[in-house]
This record gives sequence, C-alpha cells and structure tokens, in this order.
Amino acid sequence: MSATPDCKHPAGTFVPVIARGKCEGKEDCVEVCPYDVFTVGRISDEDFAALGFFEKLKSRVHGRKTAYTPNAAACQACGKCVTACPEKAITLRRLPTLGPT
Ligand code: SF4
Repeated sequence: MSATPDCKHPAGTFVPVIARGKCEGKEDCVEVCPYDVFTVGRISDEDFAALGFFEKLKSRVHGRKTAYTPNAAACQACGKCVTACPEKAITLRRLPTLGPT
C-alpha cells in the first residue's frame, strides 16, 4: 500500500485488538493499514465458540468473516484502523515494556 503513514509510535509499542463479537469482516482495516497488519477470513472454531448467542447469529449473517492480525508486530499505532472500522471493533493496546534486567 502506498499510503503515507502518520506514525505515532515505533513498531512493537502497540497492537490492535479486535472485539470479536463486534467485527463483521468488512475489511476496512485491511484497506487502510499501511503495514498490512490485518487479514480477513473465516472465524476460527475456537473464536466462534467463545461468542455469545447473538454474536454467533451476527457472525453467521456475515458469513463468519472476521479480521485477524497476523502482522500485529508491524503496527505503528497510526490509528487509521480504529477510525475506519464501521463497527468500532478495534482498539490499540500498549504492550508491556521490559524493565531493566
Ligand atoms: S494503528 Fe491500525 S492501521 Fe495503523 S499501523 Fe496499527 S494496525 Fe495498521
């Protein structure tokens, strides 16, 4: 992707977290992320089983599609996915920093 990222933090500082029950697999995150963090595919059986009753119904309606973050380590916390997600399903979580050894 050729977008100019508005990076706020170096990679490895934040990761995107997807609220599985909200995500409808619409792929806006895939399109906006400058670092190819996301893929959209079929929800895993384990993740599907963890959904609530109505979340399962919603997931079926949307073809059991959901977003995953196989390249989360590349996230630079630009926030584009958070803004783009129509379901408000993405938040950024700061990773714990390693203390002095
Ligand atoms: S905040 Fe979202 S869009 Fe920006 S780099 Fe991280 S995963 Fe990609």
